[in-house]
Amino acid sequence: MKKHNFYAGPSILSEYTIRHTAEAVENFAETGLSILEVSHRSKEFVAVMDEAQALVKELLEVPEGYSVLFLGGGASLQFCMAPFNLLRKKAGYLDTGTWAANAIKEARLFGDVEVLASSKEANYTFYPKGYVVPDDLDYLHITTNNTIYGTELREDPDVPCPLVADMSSDIFSRPIDVAKYDLIYAGAQKNLGPAGVTLVIVKDSALGKVDRPIPTMLDYRTHIKKGSMFNTPPVLPVYSVLMTLRYYKELGGVREMERRDIEKARLLYNAIDESKMFVGTVTDPASRSIMNVTFVMTPEYKDLEGEFVSFCSARGIVGIKGHRSVGGFRASLYNALPKESVEVLVEAMKDFEKEHAK
Ligand SMILES: *Cc1c(COP(=O)(O)O)cnc(C)c1O
Repeated sequence: MKKHNFYAGPSILSEYTIRHTAEAVENFAETGLSILEVSHRSKEFVAVMDEAQALVKELLEVPEGYSVLFLGGGASLQFCMAPFNLLRKKAGYLDTGTWAANAIKEARLFGDVEVLASSKEANYTFYPKGYVVPDDLDYLHITTNNTIYGTELREDPDVPCPLVADMSSDIFSRPIDVAKYDLIYAGAQKNLGPAGVTLVIVKDSALGKVDRPIPTMLDYRTHIKKGSMFNTPPVLPVYSVLMTLRYYKELGGVREMERRDIEKARLLYNAIDESKMFVGTVTDPASRSIMNVTFVMTPEYKDLEGEFVSFCSARGIVGIKGHRSVGGFRASLYNALPKESVEVLVEAMKDFEKEHAK
């Protein structure tokens, strides 16, 4: 049976990415060797790293003066690496979900942290607006897409200080004005590739301003100087990311990704809004994520949630169970998910409702 993969992360990859990664595991760049067993200093792998960095710059229109890195440690390591390198006195953070809260906790180890807005009291069901950003911040940290709660900020805000963004679950789903940011990071396993590598885009001139000593591996400058090859990079994940980037380019780049993602999200949100059985968890429609759609059953039907998950799995739909802190369902509609999978989910919702509506 064809599977429809709605997992939140690690999550669906394009057939193109999977097939070419599998080929490289068997025979990498006609070397007669697996990519798993050749030096990262080989000319074949150096070419992979160079092309991956160049494609990130091309697809996101990264201006001069920025470096692109592929690091280990996940997005979670960036929660500490960002303040380690950038926080002198005071940073502002938006508390918009579990990941944002984790980032805040780490930043407090390095300086003053002002939480400028939080939707925590409302279980993160909206993306805060109207907060005031002081002009004496070293940076403002935002989480553009809150993977667990299904809220998203689909714009690059104008603020009187540098921006730092965790874009783990929505990078490459829209054009970004990179020039507004000192730092952007994203774990690959949501919209880019397999787990094990984190994409970092950092403004070179933002670095070297803190007084504290920084351990070699946690200093962005170490990795910039060595072209993201200071130590052995995660070679296979980087290769897969390159395949995804080639695929995005072939399809028409981030504007085309955005068009497709909006279309898929609209399909599912319309079905939720038309239904009497399902209801979205995000209270402010403008905050709705086009990447992770969170919804539950209305109180009247609440006890049918488990049954709906089984109903879906019989149709090949996997990964729709909601995160435990929200409950219900979460359908992740990352770039690699075909529109057809959303149509299959919508049909399952309608059929289930027909069977069970009181
Ligand atoms: C998944 C996720 C993380 C955590 O990523 P790891 O690579 O597991 O550390 C951080 N931020 C956001 C927005 C995420 O979706």
